[in-house]
Amino acid sequence: MNGKGDKWRGGWTPQYAENHNRIFGGKVKKIYIFDVDGTLTPSRRPMTKDFEKFFSKWAEENTFYLVSGSDLEKMKEQVPEYILTLAGGIFTCGGNQFWKEGSTQQWPTDWKLIYENKFELPKHLEEFLNIMLANSEYPHRYGNHIENRGAMVNFSIVGRDCTLEQRLDYFEYDKKTKERQKIADIIKSKADGIDAVIGGQISIDIAPVGNDKSQILKHIEEIENFNCPDEYIFIGDRTMEGGNDYPLALLMDNTENCDFYQAGEPSAEDGYKSTQKILEKLID
Ligand SMILES: [Mg+2]
Repeated sequence: MNGKGDKWRGGWTPQYAENHNRIFGGKVKKIYIFDVDGTLTPSRRPMTKDFEKFFSKWAEENTFYLVSGSDLEKMKEQVPEYILTLAGGIFTCGGNQFWKEGSTQQWPTDWKLIYENKFELPKHLEEFLNIMLANSEYPHRYGNHIENRGAMVNFSIVGRDCTLEQRLDYFEYDKKTKERQKIADIIKSKADGIDAVIGGQISIDIAPVGNDKSQILKHIEEIENFNCPDEYIFIGDRTMEGGNDYPLALLMDNTENCDFYQAGEPSAEDGYKSTQKILEKLID
């Protein structure tokens, strides 16, 4: 009932307050925010058919936003576009870009870029990443190791051009050696004003401090605040310290009317099943 098409756009008026109570029965309106990789889909793969069946129906009936480390093109490969258009908006590149569907309702969807943060990788940091790449004890390199997404940089020792099998091999190696965490810790301590967080199975997201997923909450509140009273819920698979969902999870934890949930184990293949269970529990 509080799906995208039914949102009230007229601001907070006595008339609106009355309608709000009538429509929502005085109930708090929930606004959901989802990470994508590991939360709605297996890592770097499309949403499964069974979850799509559940989530597409859920998405018709709820207000939600998506936030991913990937860019919009990669996001479209993972989440069917008809589901993306049901979202209130899509945050890509770790919250450094914000997209909204154009109002034309035509195919192909007209995505409008609402904001974008620019980031230029400092030369000394690029040199450091190349040294890490040359010196890591992991034996394989498959290409596309430093991916500049304009608003952030994604760094991967194994390389983003690896196959799924090669990706899982590195993921297991990293679980044992904690290589990514060690590299991220060095970047954070040596590069002034730069943050590095672990995302997905093979990479590290690098961006200026504060240009992480936590920046999206204020934008969502600006869009949604006339629907108050609201409750904001974030679900991610890397909400623990060092993970790319952590900055937003921490902010949610410290903000009134906000809460977060961890979806399964980090980058688990079936993290979306855990997301489904959480959503089923939260249905009023
Ligand atoms: Mg994730």
